[in-house]
Amino acid sequence: MQVFKFGGASINTVDRIKQVAQIIKANNSDALMVIISAMGKTTNGLEKVAEAFFDGRTDDALALFQQVKNQHLTMAKYLLVLEYNACAAKLSDFFTEAEWLLHDKPVREYDYYYDQIVSIGELLSTCIVSHYLTEIKLTNTWLDVRDIFRTDQNFRDANIDWKHTKATVEELVKPLLVNGAVVITQGFIGSSSNNESTTLGREGSDYSAAIFANLLNAKNQTIWKDVPSVMNADPKQFADAIALPILSYEEVIEMAYYGAQVIHPKTIKPLYEKQIPLLVKCFLDASLPGTIISNGAVKNMPPVFIVKENQVLMEFRSKDYSFVGEQSVGHLYHLLESLNIKPNLTQNGAISFMAVFDNRIEKLEQLALQASDLFEVQMRKSLTLITIRHYTASAVQQVLGQRTILLEQKTPSTIQAVCLAQSGN
Ligand code: ASP
Ligand code: MG
Repeated sequence: MQVFKFGGASINTVDRIKQVAQIIKANNSDALMVIISAMGKTTNGLEKVAEAFFDGRTDDALALFQQVKNQHLTMAKYLLVLEYNACAAKLSDFFTEAEWLLHDKPVREYDYYYDQIVSIGELLSTCIVSHYLTEIKLTNTWLDVRDIFRTDQNFRDANIDWKHTKATVEELVKPLLVNGAVVITQGFIGSSSNNESTTLGREGSDYSAAIFANLLNAKNQTIWKDVPSVMNADPKQFADAIALPILSYEEVIEMAYYGAQVIHPKTIKPLYEKQIPLLVKCFLDASLPGTIISNGAVKNMPPVFIVKENQVLMEFRSKDYSFVGEQSVGHLYHLLESLNIKPNLTQNGAISFMAVFDNRIEKLEQLALQASDLFEVQMRKSLTLITIRHYTASAVQQVLGQRTILLEQKTPSTIQAVCLAQSGN
């Protein structure tokens, strides 16, 4: 059997959903487990609903949710004829579930409500795609992944309970996957032992697909994207970006770690464990070769460029010229852990410690405040973090030559530089 994952961009128009259905149809001689994200920018839209709700702006929350409802009903209307009523009835069950919550007042933490609201996006999108497949006579089974993926209650970044999830996959999913079968389910979401919805972190559907691939011993996993393959840079930032036809698991983990928006960082481990190849293919043209990711080392990698904008450099200087050693660095790391923020780069000097973060300003301000008893804290915003893997002298010159560099780190394989942002970026 194979696992397919379709992201939000692959189902954001009527034509694209039809295209997805054709890809499924062309590949279902085998059994197919299909994991789908929320449509288009639905997750962002639902995040706004959650924020409005939590701020006590009930009317805003309901109005914003109405937009999400309309988008899905419109999509269903354009796609479905015979199946429309059945689909609309199911969508409306999900709508009611959300609206019922939106009329309440928040009494629990934000992350809990975020997950209850945001998880609806995947339920709606998969419901529509499943009904469309039925409409074109492609027999399929829709599953609510919350009955399968058990997680802890770490809302917004929930951890899978592998033992429980393995058992439900064996019991509820495996028997469905005979040759020719198509099972449709959601990425990104799960549920706790109290039946609360949980989410696995933004862009988590890749990871959901990998969990299924692992537990079902899939022949391979394919992530269908709107680009021809994984590239050595974001083509929006680098006009001369080139395709990477083969990659190792390790390279992809490294790229994701440094911030390349290729594949969710947690995706590789479950695949690596079972040596399941990961294919990245283009849903706009399935005949393109794409990228294949597996265990073999890849020789002659070209330079890979990863650019992260909107970075914040924080410097923690000891107040009394005492060395910044294990104890004070340990203290800083405890603060980072308690605030749940991860630096993108760190550097330790004699009397100071520097760290670069994504700009999550409230958290960074809290960090500065909490560290201020031991350190003089300085913050510099609007910076760019550039990472070049497999760097060459000319790649460094091309990308960093004209930049003002504030901090640089080098290993034999990777160079990272924190730079002033360039105007126009
Ligand atoms: N819909 C979720 C997001 O936009 C999960 C995903 O697409 O992987 O983050
Ligand atoms: Mg996505």
